[in-house]
Amino acid sequence: MKEISIINLQTQYKHIKKDIDKVIQKCLKHQQWILGPQVRELEEKIAQYLCVKHCISVASGSDALLLSLRALAIKLKKREFFNPDEKIITSPLTFTATGNAILKSGASPIFVDIDPTTYNLDTNKLEECFKKNSNVIGVIPVHLYGQACNMDRIKNLSQKYNLFVLEDVAQAFGGKWKNKKLGSLGDLGAFSFFPSKNLGGFGDGGMVATNSDELAQLIKILTKQGGENKNNAIHIGYNSRLDTLQAAVLLTKLKYVDSFNAKRRKITEMYNDRLSNIKNIATPHVPNKNCYHVYHQYTLRVLNNKRNALQKHLENNHIQTMIYYPIPLHKMKTFSGKPQQALPEAERACREILSLPIDPFLRDKEINYIANTCQKFSLKHP
Ligand SMILES: *Cc1c(COP(=O)(O)O)cnc(C)c1O
Repeated sequence: MKEISIINLQTQYKHIKKDIDKVIQKCLKHQQWILGPQVRELEEKIAQYLCVKHCISVASGSDALLLSLRALAIKLKKREFFNPDEKIITSPLTFTATGNAILKSGASPIFVDIDPTTYNLDTNKLEECFKKNSNVIGVIPVHLYGQACNMDRIKNLSQKYNLFVLEDVAQAFGGKWKNKKLGSLGDLGAFSFFPSKNLGGFGDGGMVATNSDELAQLIKILTKQGGENKNNAIHIGYNSRLDTLQAAVLLTKLKYVDSFNAKRRKITEMYNDRLSNIKNIATPHVPNKNCYHVYHQYTLRVLNNKRNALQKHLENNHIQTMIYYPIPLHKMKTFSGKPQQALPEAERACREILSLPIDPFLRDKEINYIANTCQKFSLKHP
């Protein structure tokens, strides 16, 4: 039997092949590979889509985070980098890139434990952390698996404690909080177009969204070696651009992203329906009513230490699964050396979570097969 992979980009391509091939042909004709017309067009279209003033494309989601922080350091501190006394809070349950961006910006990360029902930053613990630490300058909420953080609470806290908010929207393109698109609610939103994301290109790519003219201008400068003109730098810059070809692919896929997200939500309903009564498996909690969840991942909790065995069982039955993420950031060597308290919910999540295949083109029969395979495991391992 053919393997069911966690995401099936071949099927997706088949579905949109005509459109994609046409736009690639267009690029082959004009040969403007660097900052060609599609790059500007994509920035404009996504700014409209998110209802923000500016979108600046960059080379990756990691760069979107880093350049955002660098621009904040320049704007708020009049320095190229933050310094290690300046603390930025984020979630321990995220991709390494989120924490790395903090270190590379010169600041120090503080990890605050997650809410076990959403896997996002626990906003009560967030406030305790602000109270305890005097030099917190900002927070990076990560909308993990496509689910919005409680942005009302985070914005209130950021106003109360005078902090910046940089949303990590790498997993939540198209997701909403109270009908506002994620990435439009903080001072900045950082997106990734890595191929497997909800809006993914044919390679690396990223984007920053902001309503601030000043931050937009600074980020633009940082993408071009640190100058308004690359031959006259005023800041320590980067070469961080989105390829024309990627922009062309993304412009095409942007037309489909809402319908693909809707399909992900449908698949989730089917999974919930078929998996909710299986022993040792906990399906995801129903999202907050203000949240439009776009299910970048469909993530189960597997109880009583059975996660690894279930993963093995699924693999033996040709079903690919993933663990996002096996090690919380505060346990990684690069983030250690700074006193970090135990974060029991993040640590427990890392032992229990398992993400199943989720793809807009997953068929009913595949969903049923996956659910039945989970059921069989549960009968064998009560
Ligand atoms: C993918 C991802 C990133 C980094 O994006 P890249 O484009 O791979 O650099 C950052 N944060 C989160 C939460 C991600 O999932």
